[in-house]
Amino acid sequence: MLMKPKIRFSPGLHPFDRPCLRAGNRVSILGATGSIGTSAAEVLDRLGGAEKFEFVALTGGSNAERMIELVKKYRPKIVAMANEAAAKTVKAAFPGETITILAGEAGVCEAASAGADWVCAAIVGTAGLRPVLCAAENAPVIALANKECLVTAGSAFMARMAECGATIFPIDSEHNALYQLLAGLREANPDEIVRYSLTASGGPFLRTPLADFSRITPEEAVKHPNWSMGAKISVDSATMMNKGLEIIEACRLFDLAPDQCDAIIHPQSFAHGLLQMRDGGVFMYLSPTDMRVCIQSSLLWTHTGEAFGREKSPFDCLSLQFEAPDPVRFPALKIAKEALRLGESAAAALNAANEICVAAFLEKSLPFDRISYTAYEVMLKIADSFPNEPISDPSAAIRRNLEADATARILAKETVEREYKAR
Ligand code: NDP
Ligand code: MG
Repeated sequence: MLMKPKIRFSPGLHPFDRPCLRAGNRVSILGATGSIGTSAAEVLDRLGGAEKFEFVALTGGSNAERMIELVKKYRPKIVAMANEAAAKTVKAAFPGETITILAGEAGVCEAASAGADWVCAAIVGTAGLRPVLCAAENAPVIALANKECLVTAGSAFMARMAECGATIFPIDSEHNALYQLLAGLREANPDEIVRYSLTASGGPFLRTPLADFSRITPEEAVKHPNWSMGAKISVDSATMMNKGLEIIEACRLFDLAPDQCDAIIHPQSFAHGLLQMRDGGVFMYLSPTDMRVCIQSSLLWTHTGEAFGREKSPFDCLSLQFEAPDPVRFPALKIAKEALRLGESAAAALNAANEICVAAFLEKSLPFDRISYTAYEVMLKIADSFPNEPISDPSAAIRRNLEADATARILAKETVEREYKAR
C-alpha cells in the first residue's frame, strides 16, 4: 500500500521530533540587551537560569548599562558590543576578570561563533545576518526572531543552515504558530494545505483617518496596542511592513509560493497563525500575547512548560475578530508580495530600504506615510539593476543579496535626503 506523503519541513527548519533542551545546555543570546533578548533571559531564568545553563555569549549594540547587569547575573564567557565605546564601558566594569569582551561587528560574529546548544537570534535588522551565519557553524539550534536575515539572505539562508547542520526554530510568533500547527499535522499530505495565514494586529493606526497619516509622530508609532517591542519593529507594525516582511519570512521558512501565504487582521493578537485545508477547514493556533511563550517552546520542544502571560489568556477574549487588511491603509503587504515576485535581491533591497526609511522617520526626517512608498521605489530600482534569479551556491547567493542590500541603503539615503530638502 502506498504511504501518504507527510508534511515536509524545508531543509534547515527544525525537525519536528528533535528535542531542544538537553542537560547542561550551553546558551547564547545575540541581541541580549533588546526586547526579545530580555524575554529570552526571563525564560531561561524560569527554567533554571545560570545554575542550569552555561551562558556562552551575550551580544549587544550600544546599551552598555544593560549589558553590565546581564554580565553580573549570567557570567557569560564572551561578551560583544557592536558599538566600540559601549564595549570599552563594559570592559571597564569588570577589571581583571576572565570574561572576553569584544567590539564591533567582527566581535559580535566571533562571540556568535563560540559554540552553544541553543542560540537566540534577536539582533534587529540585517545586522543580525552575519552573526547568525557564524553561529550556525557551531550550534545545532537557532531560535530565530530576526526575520530581516531571512528576507535579506533569501532561500539561501535555509540552505546554508542545512549545510552547517544547524536548524532554525522560528520564534517570531506567527511562524512559531505555523510551525506548531504543521507539527500537529505531520501525518497529513502537504497538498491538503491551501493557505498559510499570518495574523496582524493592525497596529496603532488601524482606525486612524488616512488624512492624518502624514502627521503621525515617532512617539505615536512606537506605541503598539498589544505587544511591547523594540522601536524598529513597532514602526514596522504600524506601517504593516512587519507583516510584509513576515510573509517573505514564511515563504522562505516553509518553502511556499507567494500566493500560498497572506495576512489577516486580528486586533486582539491571540490567534497567530492559521492553516486552511483543501476542504475549507481551518486550523488556528492561539496563545497569550507574550513572546516568552514562543521562546520557551524553542527551548522545551516537544514539551510546553508553564504559562507566561496567564493574565491575558485567549479564553478571556470571548469574541475573536478577523478582517481583511485595507490595501490603501497598508500598502506594505502588496509591496512585499511584489518583492517575492521580483526575486531575492528585490526582497533584500526592500528590507534594507525600509530600515533606512524607518530610521529616518524616527529621526523625523521622513513622514510616516512615505516609509513604505520610498522603500518600494528603491526596491523597483534595484530590481531593474540587479540579477534576481536564484543562485545555487548559498554563500554566493547571500553575497549577491548583501550587495543589493548595500546599494539599496545608499539609494534610500539619497531618496530620503531629496524628499527632506524638497519639503
Ligand atoms: P530591540 O531593538 O529591542 O533589540 C535589538 C537588539 O539588537 C539589541 O540588543 C541591540 O543592542 C542589538 N543591536 C542593534 N543594532 C545592532 C548592531 N548593529 N549589531 C549588533 N547588535 C545590534 O529589537 P527587538 O528585540 O524588538 O527585535 C529583535 C528582532 O526580533 C527583530 O528582527 C524583530 O523583527 C524580531 N522580533 C521581535 C519581536 C518583539 O516582540 N520584540 C517579535 C517578533 C520578532 P542595543 O540595544 O544594546 O543597542
Ligand atoms: Mg511576528
